Amino acid sequence: MKNVPGHVAEILSALEAAGYEAWCVGGCVRDSLLGREPEDWDVTTSALPEETMAVFAPHAIPTGLQHGTVTVRSDHKNVEVTTYRVDGEYRDHRRPESVAFTRSLEEDLARRDFTINAMAENARGELRDPFGGAEDLRRGLLRCVGEPDRRFEEDALRILRGLRFAATLGLEIEAETAESIHRNRLLLREIAAERIRVELMKLLRGNHAARVLREYPDVVGVFWPEVLPMVGFGQKNHHHCFDVWEHSLHALEVVKKDDALLWSALLHDIGKPKCFTVDDAGTGHFYGHAQISRDVADVMLRRLKCSTEFRETVVRLVEWHDRDIPRTDKSIRRALRLLGETDLRRLIALKRADNLAQAPAYHDRQLELDEGEVILEQLLAEDACFSLKQLAVNGRDLLALGLQGAEVGRVLNALLDAVINGDVPNEREALLGRVGKL
Ligand code: ATP
Ligand code: MG
Repeated sequence: MKNVPGHVAEILSALEAAGYEAWCVGGCVRDSLLGREPEDWDVTTSALPEETMAVFAPHAIPTGLQHGTVTVRSDHKNVEVTTYRVDGEYRDHRRPESVAFTRSLEEDLARRDFTINAMAENARGELRDPFGGAEDLRRGLLRCVGEPDRRFEEDALRILRGLRFAATLGLEIEAETAESIHRNRLLLREIAAERIRVELMKLLRGNHAARVLREYPDVVGVFWPEVLPMVGFGQKNHHHCFDVWEHSLHALEVVKKDDALLWSALLHDIGKPKCFTVDDAGTGHFYGHAQISRDVADVMLRRLKCSTEFRETVVRLVEWHDRDIPRTDKSIRRALRLLGETDLRRLIALKRADNLAQAPAYHDRQLELDEGEVILEQLLAEDACFSLKQLAVNGRDLLALGLQGAEVGRVLNALLDAVINGDVPNEREALLGRVGKL
C-alpha cells in the first residue's frame, strides 16, 4: 500500500523483523482502495498477543487480550494490533462464545462480515483478498463473506452495519445479502440499544442514507416500529407530492450532516399517521401533528438510549418545526431566547428541508426563511440581547437593591422580557429604574 502512514509501517516492519506476518486489515484497506482517508489503521498479525507485547514492550498495552488485541503506541498514535483469530460458536446472535488464535491470515479474513472488509494489505502493496472484496468495491457491491443467513444469525448487528456501509459508501447490497437482511431482520431484537444507536447515527450521516432507508424500512421498523405507518401514507393535501415517509426521506436528504438535524428531519412528521383527518372537500389535515410527533420521537430516542442533551434538542426541533418562522426583530429575539443561536439556525435549516420536500409550487416559502435569516444575522452582528447573561444588570445588582431569593430570578427574567419586547433598552440605568415598577 502506497499510503500506509509511517507509524503503521513501523509496526508492520517490527513484526516482520521478529519473524511474524503483519498486515493492515479491514476498514483501512477498504477506505484506501476507495481513495478515502481511513479513520484508523488496524493491524492483524500471526504473532500471539504475548509475542506482540514482547516485540513492542514498553510501548504496548494489553487492551483486549482475550480477543487478541494489543494497543501499540507508535509516534504518539495508538494502533490496534490483533492476532489472527477464528470465532467460536455464536449462541446469542451477538458475540462468539470463544475465540481461538490461528496462524492463518485466510482464516482470520473469513470471520469478517463483508467482502469489502475482508482484505489485507502490507507495506509492500501485496493485497490478500480471498473473497473478491476489491472487485465488489469496483462494482459498488456489498456482499457477505460466506453464507449471508449464517453470518447474520451469528451476529445480528451485521444487518445494520451492512445498511450503514451501503449508506456511507454508496454501495448496492448484493441480491442474496439483501434478501437475507430482510429475512433475518428480527434478530436485531437481540442487539443492545446503544449499539443500534451507534450504527444508525453513522447510517444517517451517509450521503446515500435516504436510498437505503427507502429500501429497508422493515429493518428500521424492528427497533422503531413507529416508522412503519409512515410508509405509503398518502397526505391528500396539495402541499404535498409525497407520502409521509418519502417526504421525510427527502427532508433527510437535503439537510446538512449534523446529527440533530438529520434525526429531526427523519422524525419531524413521525406522528402524522396518528392525527390524520379528511375534511368535507376531501383534503387531508394533520392537526396537532408537531406535538404528537414530538412525543413519539421522544419515546423513540429514549428507546435507543440517546443522551438527554441530544434527545431534548431533536425533540424540540420536531416540536417547533411547523411554527411560522419568526420574521420580526422581536420574534427572532424571542426565538433566540428560547432556542439559542445554534438551535434556531437548526430550526431554520429544518424548515427549509421540510419545505423543499413539499410540492414545488410551495417552494417560495424559502423566501420567508431567507427574510428570517437576514434578521437573525443582523441581530447577532449587533450583539442584540436575548439571554440573561447579556443583560446589562445581574443578580448582584438586584441584591444590592434589596431583592431576595427567587425574586431576583423573576425580576431578571422580567427585565429580559422587557428588553426583548423593545420596552426598555438594554442599559444599566434604564433597567435599574424599571426594577421598582416590577
Ligand atoms: P469504520 O471504522 O470506518 O467504521 P471498519 O470496517 O473499520 O469501519 P470496525 O468496526 O472498525 O469497522 O471494524 C474493523 C474490521 O473488523 C471490519 O472492517 C471487519 O473486518 C471486522 N468487523 C467489525 N465488526 C464486525 C462484525 N460484527 N462481524 C464481523 N466482522 C467485523
Ligand atoms: Mg475501523
